[in-house]
Amino acid sequence: MSNNDRRRFLKLAAVTLTAPAAIAAMTRDARAQDLPHQDEADPTASALGYKHDTTKVDDKKFPNHKPDQMCAGCNLALGKAGDAWLPCTIFPGKAVNAKGWCSAWVKKAAKPA
Ligand code: SF4
Repeated sequence: MSNNDRRRFLKLAAVTLTAPAAIAAMTRDARAQDLPHQDEADPTASALGYKHDTTKVDDKKFPNHKPDQMCAGCNLALGKAGDAWLPCTIFPGKAVNAKGWCSAWVKKAAKPA
């Protein structure tokens, strides 16, 4: 195998190995932005006290709520940092506001180093 053949093979291998991950990431991001927004009045959302804006949470009804707790910092939120709307494992098929909150909030775990 010549040096040119080796280079061509390595380029092809790099594209073949990275393309599926890039396509999957693009598809995941597109899906997250296409999801309908969670309705605050939905029975499950209402029972969990979900609000699009964490400052609108009824603190008397949910005394464990803290104003700095938001969906963006919740371990149950999916999607990527900086997105305004995020998929949430509690509300499949819907997107929650990054500045929202519900009583299932769990502090986002630190990523392993
Ligand atoms: Fe937001 Fe977390 Fe509640 Fe989902 S579980 S709505 S991400 S606070």
